[in-house]
Amino acid sequence: MSKLVQGYEVVIGFETHAQLSTQSKIFSRAPTAFGAEANTQACAVDMALPGTLPVMNIGAVERAIEFGLAINAHIAERSIFARKNYFYPDLPKGYQISQFEIPVVQGGEVSFFLEEGKETVRKTVRLERAHLEEDAGKSLHEDFIGQSGIDLNRAGTPLLEIVTRPDMSSSEEAVAYAKELHKIVTWIGICDGNMQEGSFRCDANVSVRKPGAELGTRREIKNLNSFKFMQQAIDYEVRWQIEQIEDGHAIQQATVLFDPDTGETRAMRTKEDAADYRYFPDPDLPPLVIGRDWVERVKSEMAELPRVMAERFVKDYALPEYDATQLTQSKAVAAYFEATAKACGQAKLASNWIMGEVSRRLNASEMAIEQAPVSAAQLAALIGRISDNTISNNAARQVFEGLWNKEGPSGSGEGDVDALIEAKGLKQMNDTGELEKIIDEVLAANPKNVEEFKAGNAKALNGLVGPIMKASKGKANPGQVNALLMKKLG
Ligand code: ADP
Ligand code: MG
Repeated sequence: MSKLVQGYEVVIGFETHAQLSTQSKIFSRAPTAFGAEANTQACAVDMALPGTLPVMNIGAVERAIEFGLAINAHIAERSIFARKNYFYPDLPKGYQISQFEIPVVQGGEVSFFLEEGKETVRKTVRLERAHLEEDAGKSLHEDFIGQSGIDLNRAGTPLLEIVTRPDMSSSEEAVAYAKELHKIVTWIGICDGNMQEGSFRCDANVSVRKPGAELGTRREIKNLNSFKFMQQAIDYEVRWQIEQIEDGHAIQQATVLFDPDTGETRAMRTKEDAADYRYFPDPDLPPLVIGRDWVERVKSEMAELPRVMAERFVKDYALPEYDATQLTQSKAVAAYFEATAKACGQAKLASNWIMGEVSRRLNASEMAIEQAPVSAAQLAALIGRISDNTISNNAARQVFEGLWNKEGPSGSGEGDVDALIEAKGLKQMNDTGELEKIIDEVLAANPKNVEEFKAGNAKALNGLVGPIMKASKGKANPGQVNALLMKKLG
C-alpha cells in the first residue's frame, strides 16, 4: 500500500535521458566532448546541410544493448528510427531522429531498497522502453549583447531515453529509482553520469488521485539534474496539484520547469501529444537489425552487473540481501568490501564497518571511498583484532578514528593497527587473574547488588558490571566479565 499525501495517492513515471559515452555522435563522426568552443564540434550532418545523410554509430547501439541486458529487457531484433517533427532554432533539420513505435529496448525492470518508516522494503519499477535518439543543439541567450546564438556542438549527441511505467508513489521512491538507474548506467559504463553537464537528466511525470480512482492528469517536470532538486520539485508539485484539486480546479496536462531559487515549478507550455509531432519512419535510415549473436557477444564482454554481484555476495559471503545491495552501490565500494572481507575472513563484520563507520566518515567529509584514508587492509587488520579479542568494539572505534586521522605510524596493514592499539593503551585485559582481582574487589564493595542478584533480580548485575569496566579502565572483555561474574555468583 502506498502512502497517502492528504488523502491522495501520488503517481510518478520517469523519462531519463542518458547521454551515451561514445567518442562520436550518433549519426555523424563529429566528437561529443563537453565544453568545446561553440560550433567547433558540429559537422555538416549535425548542421543539417542539404544532401547529408545520417549513418548509425555502432557504439551507440552496443551501449543500448548493454543497457537492455543490465535491466533484463527484451532487445528488439528489428527496431525503427522515426522523425519527430517540431520547429526549434536549435534543431536545424526541423525534426529529431528518435524511435517511436518500435524501440530498441523493451520492458525490463529496476529494483532497489527503500526505507519506509522503520522498514526497508524492496521496490521494483517496471520499464516501458528505452530508445535511441539524437540530442538537439543549444540556444545561448547572450543578455549582454541582447542577442541569442545557436551552438550546435550538442546536436546529434547520442541519447538513450529510458521510460518507466507510472510505478512510483512518492518522491523518495522516485529519487531511489533515479539513483539506482544512475548506478546501473555508470557501472556498465554506457554514460558518464555527470548530472551538472547534463549527461543524466530526468523528467518526472507526476499526478495525484484519490485511492482507487483512475489515473489523474499528469504534469511533467523537465530536466531535473540533481537528486536534491528532484525531491524538492516532486514534493512541491504534489502539494500544488492537491491544492488545485481541493480548490476545485482541474489539472491541465503541461510541461513545467523547477526553479531551485524559489523551490517552485512553473508551467512552460501545455503538453504536446504524440500526434503533434507527426512521427513517421525516417526514410534515411534502414531498420536497426540486431542479431542474437551480437547480443550474445555483447553479453559475454560485459563486466559483472551490480545485481549479479549482489547475489554473489549473498551466496559467497552469507550476507543479508540488504547488505549485498548497499555494498554494490559502486564498483569501488564493492572492491573495498571484497578486499576487506577476504583479508579478515569476517564478511559480516566487514560489511557492518563499511556500511557504518566508513560510510559515515565518507559522507561527513564528502569523500569517495577511493580517497578513504583507511585502507581495506587496515580495516581488515582492525576487524581481526576485534575477533581475536585483543580489543573491544568500543576501542576499535577509537583505533579507527586514529587510522582515519593518520595518527601514529603510517603503514598499510596490521603493523600500524597494532602500533595504534599499543600507543593508545587499548588492549583488552585478557589476563584472568588480574580481572578476577578487580571483580572480587567490586563484589566486596557492593554487597547490596550481590544480594539482590542472588534474590533473582537480574538487573542488579548491571550495577556490578559498570564498576568493573570502570576499574579496568574499559579494558576488560565484557564477555569475560559476564562469564566470571556468573561463575562467582553461582
Ligand atoms: P508521452 O509519450 O506523451 O511522454 P507516455 O505515455 O510515454 O507519454 O508517458 C510518459 C511518462 O509518463 C511515462 O514514464 C509514464 O509512466 C508516465 N505517466 C503516464 N501517465 C501518467 C500519470 N497519469 N501520472 C504519472 N505519470 C504518468
Ligand atoms: Mg515522453
